[in-house]
Amino acid sequence: MGKTGRHYNCGKDNPNYGKPARNRGIKPSQETIEKIKKSLIGNKYRLGIPHSEETKKKIGRPGSTNPNWKGGIRMIDGRTYIFSPEHPYADKNGCVLRSRLVVESHIHRFLGAKEKVHHINQDKLDDRVENLWVCTQSEHVALHNKQRKIKKLGDKNVGIV
Ligand SMILES: [Zn+2]
Repeated sequence: MGKTGRHYNCGKDNPNYGKPARNRGIKPSQETIEKIKKSLIGNKYRLGIPHSEETKKKIGRPGSTNPNWKGGIRMIDGRTYIFSPEHPYADKNGCVLRSRLVVESHIHRFLGAKEKVHHINQDKLDDRVENLWVCTQSEHVALHNKQRKIKKLGDKNVGIV
């Protein structure tokens, strides 16, 4: 598995599993992002709902100002990991995906192994909380199918990451 567009959380039932994203580096239009966000409203985790200014200050802070910061950052497979050895779901290297840490500090609990974090704008490096969406594996696959359908409907800038 090289440094292609493989999606960390996507299983083999995703048709793009293991394939490079066709539009790497291209961001979907704002209009498309809004469309996708609209289709997600009602998600049980209530993500996508704007935060208060006070909450914004507490969450999503990169690097040493982040309360989850333990002094290490790693790039693996085009994703950002933070060294967090005390995290209950840290991998064997003591690292956790930054996207998961951002969501966890937002919803004030740990994500379970079955909960997946999706990047709404399909940029795996964009771990801002407003770009992250928590879903189950099956919802995640459905989400990618939905994004592919929107792409077919005409926006050539949408890809699956
Ligand atoms: Zn995804």
